Amino acid sequence: MPEKNKRINVLFAAAEAEPFIKVGGLGDVAGALPISIQKSATHAIDIRLVIPFHAAIKEKQLPTEFLGSFAINSAAGTSECLVYAITNEGLTVYLLDSEAINHKSPVYHANPVEDGRKYAFFSIACVELVKFLDWKVDIFHSNDWHTAVAIYALATNYKDDPFFHNTAKIISVHNMPFNGYGAQPALTELGIAPSNDSNLPEWAKLTPLPLGLVAADKIIAVSEGYAKEILTPEFGCGLDEFLITRSERIIGIVNGIDTQIWDPATDPYLVQNYSRNNLGAKANNKAELQKTYGLEINQEIPLLTLISRMDNQKGIDIALRGLNRVINEDWQAIILGTGNPQIEKMAIDLAKMYPDRIKTITKFDPALSHQLYAGADIFLMPSRYEPCGISQMISMRYGTIPVARATGGLVDTITHYRGNTDEATGFLFKHKYPSAFANGLLRALNTYKNKPIWIKLQQNGMDKDFSWQHSANAYVEVYKSLLK
Ligand code: ADP
Repeated sequence: MPEKNKRINVLFAAAEAEPFIKVGGLGDVAGALPISIQKSATHAIDIRLVIPFHAAIKEKQLPTEFLGSFAINSAAGTSECLVYAITNEGLTVYLLDSEAINHKSPVYHANPVEDGRKYAFFSIACVELVKFLDWKVDIFHSNDWHTAVAIYALATNYKDDPFFHNTAKIISVHNMPFNGYGAQPALTELGIAPSNDSNLPEWAKLTPLPLGLVAADKIIAVSEGYAKEILTPEFGCGLDEFLITRSERIIGIVNGIDTQIWDPATDPYLVQNYSRNNLGAKANNKAELQKTYGLEINQEIPLLTLISRMDNQKGIDIALRGLNRVINEDWQAIILGTGNPQIEKMAIDLAKMYPDRIKTITKFDPALSHQLYAGADIFLMPSRYEPCGISQMISMRYGTIPVARATGGLVDTITHYRGNTDEATGFLFKHKYPSAFANGLLRALNTYKNKPIWIKLQQNGMDKDFSWQHSANAYVEVYKSLLK
């Protein structure tokens, strides 16, 4: 039986974390979640974060403390790994630096073999780190393929090491399609043997993410919806049949958002702050956008926005084609996003066709994103798949009603309006076709005309608690359940 009030030691390993480095959503999660877990009032937790000492972090010349070094052994010889530490909001963060982790490299290499090498070595370094610190961890918490090899190594190469006898293994899955294929040479160099799990497809037997899934005592998907979806051929990325054999270990815990950064009542980027009780003030933010982007200044015309990476995953093409289908309706749109040049071009071309109504801005602009969340009426999120999604939660917090595809975390976080306003916060459409998107948008446009209903939907969304504390408490429950 676990001691009731035993402090739980957790190493949280990730490829990126705010405020040190952020490339994508994983950076948001790894930056915020461990801090919220540490602050969780439900149990004493000593959680610490480890990330690579990426070149981009070094450039910031942060006041790190050098703790010492340890060796990483591989077939190619021994390399030294340097350990640095820094604290962030009371959280201890370790930064690991060695030749193989490649301190002169980008956060993610475009070349999968190089990227595989970087993160295979980083994973092993994370395991060696806890021995170097002589810190017995109860939970080793890896995230995505980049640190999945760490828990596989704990289950294999370190299986008989008494130091780890009480260490439980968790992997959080933020994005299944990225599995680390290409790491095979590095894994072999590090003496990692293929898995002999007969439920795994051949390609997966020496691929980081599947190895982590094999080893994990608990597999956490970043929403309940995604936890179910990854068991299906459409979302399982070739691992669905294997995952079904592990289904008892899989749970979904939805991500949160930083409710201090994303708060319309205090957001410094807005021309006027507002809250659920003075939603009228939101209109000034809309008028400002209409003025800045040369759109007709008129509160009655619904202003749509889409803020996204321009990636196939996000279904921007579905929305752009869908907008064409409802072109006879009265609306304006501002699209903000960068990424795939073809998708960017599609968005630019549509804006050129309707210059009085549609604006496309192809840059990464956090300040503008705040103004769009605040000034728009409707937020478009037509994702093909969405493990959790953050933008829809931000939009609801800003009283901007989402029109989103019914997939993954979007289903968990948006309550579809079916004619009853009690709980509804937005509009979901089922199929990933422009016609389905257009129908969903039409429902929203029609509802917009009924102000009392619209305001109720806005307030429902603004009343929702999207803070990290929710997720943190759920993670703590998982940690407690795994104590050995
Ligand atoms: P993902 O992590 O898959 O890109 P999420 O919805 O989880 O999608 O998070 C996206 C985050 O990135 C949101 O905070 C969104 O506002 C922000 N974002 C996306 N594109 C841009 C952009 N062009 N400019 C500013 N912020 C952006």
